[in-house]
Amino acid sequence: MKYLLLLLLVGYVVWRWRAGQRARTVPPRPAGPVQTEPIAMVACAGCGLHVPITQAVTAGAQYFCSASHREAAGV
Ligand SMILES: [Zn+2]
Repeated sequence: MKYLLLLLLVGYVVWRWRAGQRARTVPPRPAGPVQTEPIAMVACAGCGLHVPITQAVTAGAQYFCSASHREAAGV
């Protein structure tokens, strides 16, 4: 009977230890405001790739995915 109690005690300790390990491995939420506004996407005039307008390279009224595509278009 005392071995059963000892086994239950060891099992309880292991279960509590593993629950503590899991709680520590949960990644923290990212700090800062969460972006809720959608970003407009534009198509590259050179290859057609859609990129966020904030990362697009502009030349006049045209958008490009990179400076090399803008130069390849001769703009
Ligand atoms: Zn492109």
